[in-house]
Amino acid sequence: MNLQGIGMTSQRTRLRLINRLKESGIRTQDVLEAMANTPRHIFLDEALAHRAYEDTALPIGYNQTLSQPYIVAKMTELTLENDPQRILEIGTGSGYQTSILAQLAKEVYSVERIKPLQEKARQRFVAMGLRNIRLRHADGGMGWPEAAPFHAIIVTAAPEDVPRELLSQLADGGRLVIPVGGQSQQLMVMTRTGNEFSKRIVEAVRFVPLVEGTVL
Ligand code: SAH
Repeated sequence: MNLQGIGMTSQRTRLRLINRLKESGIRTQDVLEAMANTPRHIFLDEALAHRAYEDTALPIGYNQTLSQPYIVAKMTELTLENDPQRILEIGTGSGYQTSILAQLAKEVYSVERIKPLQEKARQRFVAMGLRNIRLRHADGGMGWPEAAPFHAIIVTAAPEDVPRELLSQLADGGRLVIPVGGQSQQLMVMTRTGNEFSKRIVEAVRFVPLVEGTVL
């Protein structure tokens, strides 16, 4: 793995990606800066690294994908809207979304069901010097009860319905950012006030499904 990576070419293409995100309506300066500072190519296998700064989802093995940068930026904005200190992420995957969140919040807890993906992500966090991320190999539909409540929960795989366990692990005022649905999915924000939950639909999205159980 090479943090310096692809050098000047990478620097230019990275800036082009940031401009594209701005044009797509991403306005939060902190989010744009974190994305500009994050080497997306280290989250991919070498054979795909040259496509790292395209605004597309890319395969990471095990039938999973690293999300499209626009969607990462959008979900990060939504997750950080109430300035959460403690965030839970379901679906670590490559760790790219995790690493962006970790640059912008105090503590990030992230759950992944596929062990080899989790291990690769862990190495990337070490390489980036990120020390505020805790990882767990488990079925994220159960959340992370011992570390709850969370000010924000972000889910990067789509369940058919919002998992109740995740709602119950939100702090008062906390928010759940989650794609929901099967063939057609909507990105939603559920906000907790006491024991009431309000729902906002953001836009249509396409995520891999949230799957039960774990893979070693
Ligand atoms: N945020 C990731 C996206 C990875 S794709 C990235 O940017 O790379 C979604 C991830 O969710 C996959 O790694 C998949 O294994 C994981 N996943 C799916 N169902 C899960 C579950 N029930 N618990 C934990 N992780 C799950």
